[in-house]
Amino acid sequence: LSQLFRPLDMLGMVYREIRQGLIDMEAMFRLVDTPAEVTDAPDAKPLAVTGGLVRFEDVTFHYDPERPILKGIDLSIRPGGTLAVVGPSGAGKSTLARILYRFYDISGGRVTIDGQDIAHVTQESLRRAIGIVPQDTVLFNDTIGYNIGYGREGATRNEIEAAAQGAAIHDFILSLPHGYETKVGERGLKLSGGEKQRVAIARSLLKNPPILILDEATSALDSRTEADIQATLRGVEQGRTTIVIAHRLSTIVHADEIVVLEAGRIAERGSHAELMARDGLYAEMWMRQASEAEEKDKEAA
Ligand code: ATP
Repeated sequence: LSQLFRPLDMLGMVYREIRQGLIDMEAMFRLVDTPAEVTDAPDAKPLAVTGGLVRFEDVTFHYDPERPILKGIDLSIRPGGTLAVVGPSGAGKSTLARILYRFYDISGGRVTIDGQDIAHVTQESLRRAIGIVPQDTVLFNDTIGYNIGYGREGATRNEIEAAAQGAAIHDFILSLPHGYETKVGERGLKLSGGEKQRVAIARSLLKNPPILILDEATSALDSRTEADIQATLRGVEQGRTTIVIAHRLSTIVHADEIVVLEAGRIAERGSHAELMARDGLYAEMWMRQASEAEEKDKEAA
């Protein structure tokens, strides 16, 4: 009999690995090519998160040695604090997040969490400590309950519902024909952009990580949904060290620090008020977005 079950055990193992692979893939924020092999150091220890102090110290990085991407980045995010990263397309914003997740090893400097170099801790412990709300959420052809529960293996129905409540999607789910058993994904119910984001938020709540990366979608949701999601996110950020990769400056006014990344360097940094007073790149981006928003409102009226 055990011979019969062994292959099934194997299958279970393979399945779990694939699932972890998918979680990692989602975390790559639509990054298509395979990253260079990142391996655990022989003496790697599990990361011990005590408060969630994240630091980048003179970090340099390239995908291709011919083309430096990050050129001496210094960042420090206090435990529970929020850092927002803004800047033109291609400046290296997503790259910063991928480096924190250690999809790639850096070529110079170090990245630490509570004083521990992330290159010297196990990848498994590092990735367990970091939650990601990606731009695009991958939904499986399965129930909505399953899709949320996949944020943490072994989550109970009660935990899944609590996470859905935290992400303000519980009532919506209850209104579906089969509640939590409703099939979603390509072959099921199609969720809107905002609903998908809420599924991603619920997954992160289940994972309950001390560090959170929010990768804001480029395409804006309608302004009411956007405001609702932002309010939910403010709650999720509480007590976690958060990095927001932002495209809409209106969503990061509350951040402790905003850094403007330009061609792999920090061009400006400070609070929203400080950066506005500086009247530089950030202020210019802010004015441009404000007038674009005004145009849109006029069109809609
Ligand atoms: P966006 O706002 O458009 O998402 P970004 O600031 O997040 O841009 P990154 O995705 O970090 O920019 O990319 C920074 C630079 O690195 C870009 O020039 C990009 O072409 C390059 N790049 C990104 N990923 C890879 C990769 N896997 N291999 C080679 N180059 C890459």
